Amino acid sequence: MIVILKQNPNPAQLESLIAWLEEKHIEVNKSVGTTHTILGLVGDTAAIDPDLISALGIVEDVKRVQEPYKHANVKFHPAPTVIEIGAQKIGGGSLTLIAGPCTVESEEQIVGIAKRVKAAGAAILRGGAFKPRTSPYAYQGLGEEGIALLKTARAETGLPIAAEITDSAQLPLFAEVDLIQVGARNMQNFALLNVLGKQEKPVMLMRGHCASYEEWLMSAEYIMAAGNHNVILCEGGIRSYEHTNRHMLDLAAVPMLRRLTHLPILVDPSHAAGRSWLVSEIAPAAVAAGADGLSIEVHSDPEHAVMDGPQSLDPDAFDTVAAKAKALHSFLAE
Ligand code: PEP
Ligand code: MN
Repeated sequence: MIVILKQNPNPAQLESLIAWLEEKHIEVNKSVGTTHTILGLVGDTAAIDPDLISALGIVEDVKRVQEPYKHANVKFHPAPTVIEIGAQKIGGGSLTLIAGPCTVESEEQIVGIAKRVKAAGAAILRGGAFKPRTSPYAYQGLGEEGIALLKTARAETGLPIAAEITDSAQLPLFAEVDLIQVGARNMQNFALLNVLGKQEKPVMLMRGHCASYEEWLMSAEYIMAAGNHNVILCEGGIRSYEHTNRHMLDLAAVPMLRRLTHLPILVDPSHAAGRSWLVSEIAPAAVAAGADGLSIEVHSDPEHAVMDGPQSLDPDAFDTVAAKAKALHSFLAE
């Protein structure tokens, strides 16, 4: 349920409304907009009579929210959420470029790539340390050492760092990571989402390969319901009958999600495309669809990359894609 307040509501009356709702074990989320303040109510609102609230002098309207996601719902929070990581503001009309290798391999590799992607305009360095692999026999990442090398790259370049978590037991190692990625396979690892909701670091939630928009938003809701509202959504492709591409990139997800949620929406063209030339072709399309940013895999020697080499752009190709994405974003903002 949402309660839309009249402009400049009497503070004493507002306080007593909130206290009355909280007595009924309803959680009240206040969202102050440019014209109106909205109270988003979470809990057993079935027992609340909307007419009773509508009759109050400070209330303009009361509406029931049918969707099962509340905190993530644009009706709860009409203004876009902007998440700050270092100097970068993610969401609200800006374009954020996240770039780096699939997996951290060595100091030379990660620092070299970090310098190049920073020069091209990337705001955040990505790099995996714990890799979610389909095969238990496949390379699993450098683990703790990978996180340490990301920190070295941050110290060298000033770029904030993003890495994927695959188990809540790893969380202490992420204490100095700036953005925690939850991968597609873990999108519905509710225990992990709950743990990430109890800390404040921003979480980038990849869409599960078989997840509907509602399931994806319900996963964001898990993190938010536990207390962490710093959630960024990232579309990285879904399963389809077409096997030419690694995954089917659903660019319609961007404008569609924009109507459903206030959270920032990024696109990862790399894991969907699976091939570097295709990444270069579809990355600008994601910007045109209105994405708040891109997460792109970049490697200085894609042919010898330990993981995801075929889809990794070399730094020169990333220069071109980043320039195109920025130009297109500025053009569309005019
Ligand atoms: C990745 O970002 O390299 C990755 C493996 O992501 P996901 O877990 O979402 O597939
Ligand atoms: Mn990868």
